[in-house]
Amino acid sequence: MLAIHHRRTLAAPLIALVIGGVTLSMAPSAAGAVSADATVRATAVEPAAATVDRIRGSDRYGTSVAASQAAFPGDSAPEVVYLVTGADFPDAVAAGPVAGADDGGLLLTAPDSLPVSVEAELRRLSPERIVIVGGAGAISSTVAASAAAIAPVTRVSGGNRYATAENLVRSLFAATGAPHVFLATGASFPDALTAGPVAAIAGAPVVLIDGGRSTLTASARELLDDLGTSTVTIVGGTSVVSTGIEQQLRDAFGEDAVQRHSGGDRYATAIAVNDRAFGEAAGRVFVATGTGFADALAVAVYAALEQRPLYLSLPYCVPDAVRTALAAADQLTLVGGAAAVSPGVGRLERCLSIGNASSMWVLVNKRNPLPSSYVPSGLRSPSIPNVGTQYLRSAAASALEDMVAAARSEGAGRIGITSGYRSYASQRSIYNQSLQSRGYATTELYVARPGHSEHQTGLAADLYPIGASNCSNYRCLGDTAQGRWLRDNAWRFGFILRYEPSQSSITGYGYESWHFRYVGPTLAADYEASGHRTFEQFLGQPAAPSY
Ligand SMILES: [Zn+2]
Repeated sequence: MLAIHHRRTLAAPLIALVIGGVTLSMAPSAAGAVSADATVRATAVEPAAATVDRIRGSDRYGTSVAASQAAFPGDSAPEVVYLVTGADFPDAVAAGPVAGADDGGLLLTAPDSLPVSVEAELRRLSPERIVIVGGAGAISSTVAASAAAIAPVTRVSGGNRYATAENLVRSLFAATGAPHVFLATGASFPDALTAGPVAAIAGAPVVLIDGGRSTLTASARELLDDLGTSTVTIVGGTSVVSTGIEQQLRDAFGEDAVQRHSGGDRYATAIAVNDRAFGEAAGRVFVATGTGFADALAVAVYAALEQRPLYLSLPYCVPDAVRTALAAADQLTLVGGAAAVSPGVGRLERCLSIGNASSMWVLVNKRNPLPSSYVPSGLRSPSIPNVGTQYLRSAAASALEDMVAAARSEGAGRIGITSGYRSYASQRSIYNQSLQSRGYATTELYVARPGHSEHQTGLAADLYPIGASNCSNYRCLGDTAQGRWLRDNAWRFGFILRYEPSQSSITGYGYESWHFRYVGPTLAADYEASGHRTFEQFLGQPAAPSY
């Protein structure tokens, strides 16, 4: 399950991208034709060559099994395995550093049943004991019974996430004490996850605290006393662990006994933590998505055993600061499948904005409108059959011309464009006309309100088949050879089928076999590889079923 994938030379002018047997050659910056980004690109450190591999399973539980197999190959096995829920983070993230410091294994389980792959891995490891983390609400008695058939089980839990975390720390460190502890917020997962491998390597606990308070809770303070703690590392900024708590610790332990590692966001905090612990990230580094806890937690024990840092990334590109940090690495181990961390992360793909109207990657839906005044620059009419005269941004127009030519040469038939760029005003009139002719419900399912249409970006095209025997307009494109070819091949040209069947609870729209959105070839290829069916999920963004 641990597979070495492609070796890429990122500084080369062209990279070969091989997905689904189709090879594309493209400039690494092909998706970045936005002027503001060009300036950044010129000044940023270009990433060095790196080997990219992955630890992945078919889902989060499978990924935790793969990480366990990598951490404990062959006959090596831990004495103890921590079993944590993969469904919610509070109990789970507390267990990572404890398992690491305990030289134990860690596996994720579903709350109500022990996944088959996880049960098999538990049997393979055959530990002397299993620690179940959290109460019966987090991990059911059914799961506990399945685990107990493999090894004696103890359960560590508390009345809330902080109590569970404190009890976990006590379970391992009560006897030895902990002169140094890491403190992270228990309100969200990224900082605690980042601290996990670093703390485990140091043999120190991560204590999850209610960082929004002005002082530590009495039980957290008591825990530090009981552990004989004399120095503290706070992980995260003052918005997640208050200055009041920091001052309280300084008053208790001395000015020099407290340090804070933080950055502007979860990604930058991970860099700050890793910089202090590892220096420059040469050698191997682990990269997991920062948008969910499960994969980063699954690999925490392995990263600690390997004594290598764990970085967080966006699932589809690498934030600039992280990119700079990763450029020094010789080996990037991505955690999770392509749906969790796209191949673009392995290529150190630069992030374009998903909020800026002019960005190739802009997300436009019922929750994310465009400015009413936005008009894209560089519009031109593609040289393919147009209904009326349709316009697209230049890059999208060129890609559409290439795609239509390829469809014809590959035997799918002829294709035209029936709608491209629409101004805010024209979208308003289309929406109002649809209300009159089709009524409210159908209109809402197929026509965006003004300011919410992808067509206003100049990156969306409604296509129609020409010469198909069974269809002569855009609505039935999906039933034609042209429609089927587009569905399978549009990604090669930088387009994605934006509104797939049965996704309206996420996209807010019904199936539109005709609507293709240009996002650039690298992102479209990663989207195809991810298996995601909506742009929202691919970007790790909330569903937008309604306004
Ligand atoms: Zn459309």
